[in-house]
Amino acid sequence: MIDTHTHLDFSQFDSDRDDVIKQSRRNGLKFMVNIGVDLATSKASIELAEKYKFIYATVGYHPHDSKDLTDSILAEIKEMAKHPKVVAIGEIGLDFYRNISPQDIQKEAFIKQLDLADELNLPVVLHIRQALDEAYEILSRRKNRRGILHAFPGDEPYAADGIKMGYHIAFGGPITYPKSKGARVAGSVPSSRIVTETDCPYLPPQKYRGKRNQPDYIRYVIDKLTEVFPKYSYDDIERITELNAGQVFKMPVEDDPRVVYRIGDSLYINLTMRCTNNCYFCPKNRGYHVAGHNLLLNREPGEDEIIQGIAEHKDFKEIVFCGLGEPTLRADLILSLADKLKSYKVPLRLNTNGQGSLINKTDLPAKLAGIIDMVSVSLNAENSSKYAEISIPQFGQSSYTEVIKFAGRCKELGLETQFSVVEIPEIEVEECRKVAEGAGIPLRVRKYVAI
Ligand code: SF4
Ligand SMILES: [Zn+2]
Repeated sequence: MIDTHTHLDFSQFDSDRDDVIKQSRRNGLKFMVNIGVDLATSKASIELAEKYKFIYATVGYHPHDSKDLTDSILAEIKEMAKHPKVVAIGEIGLDFYRNISPQDIQKEAFIKQLDLADELNLPVVLHIRQALDEAYEILSRRKNRRGILHAFPGDEPYAADGIKMGYHIAFGGPITYPKSKGARVAGSVPSSRIVTETDCPYLPPQKYRGKRNQPDYIRYVIDKLTEVFPKYSYDDIERITELNAGQVFKMPVEDDPRVVYRIGDSLYINLTMRCTNNCYFCPKNRGYHVAGHNLLLNREPGEDEIIQGIAEHKDFKEIVFCGLGEPTLRADLILSLADKLKSYKVPLRLNTNGQGSLINKTDLPAKLAGIIDMVSVSLNAENSSKYAEISIPQFGQSSYTEVIKFAGRCKELGLETQFSVVEIPEIEVEECRKVAEGAGIPLRVRKYVAI
């Protein structure tokens, strides 16, 4: 787990700072990012980052203190920002709730520091309170839009706009409060854009309300996020939020390519990167990650490696042939593996683009029947011309009819079959539903996140 927002230099930690840091490490914190709010705290953040390998720092001027940000201080901030452990400019932004600095001066300081982040190619940590419209107006005009909306104060539409602009959203202790809207808002955000934070010593989780917050209480935030995203386990949320924070701040998080990977109770086998389609929304065109797993293969895995990879996992409830490419390009391997995986006594699922019969020049569903239990077929579009446009199939526009035929044949042969579509703007989901209904096959609609 990673705490993307700590104030460990604050006086609340004066009596036991090192103990808190060590305890947080013992309890599983991989990294912490200590946030500067003015010159002194930016310096103190760098000092902590120099002392502890797993602590990184940000430097910047909080909106409250904007009135004190002179050009010479900004120049000092710029020098500090070149330190190798400084990963962002922040926290910067607008706070029109407390208005400790005049609003026009806050805006000026905000823009100057955004310029600095651009110049140094650093992300930003944003503190915005009762000023989302004004802050978004400024941010939407920027080219470099990498960073974190910290202690996110908005509702779902603001979260969606923040995501669209390119930002990640940090959730912390408040999502555990019974009356907070935070959990609901978190549920509207794609998990690939969520990071965890404490803002310690402030904003403790419900269990410690009224007490001092500390970095290892991130675990309560992760716990809450598993309720928000029931398909994910604690390990999943931990891995996803670590990867997200690592990507934003360029911190060295574990990111090895996976052949066998787990999400929730399902074990997935990443068989190939090849596909007979080239959909723009494919994870391989969008960073190679699925649920925090890196699926970028530099070679196709062999049977022994896969069997060994599966043996490293326990208590999974299904095995899925999936990955970044089209598994039926390796149909022989699927059939051979399926036979050997029977001993696990769990259902076997195939996620496919439905072109397996075209690819293998055979009635593939007939071979899968009795071996594979479930098939999920990507329908991708409501008609063949749309399909050709968005999936660019190697087999041409007629592939669409073949996909529907493939799914129908699977159903006919007794395989539990479903269609899936990704909710991209180009397609009409209701029309897709009609196509699926026409084939008597249920449709699963998956969310799409524009990068
Ligand atoms: S069919 Fe699936 S694997 Fe193939 S390109 Fe499209 S999204 Fe990627
Ligand atoms: Zn803060």
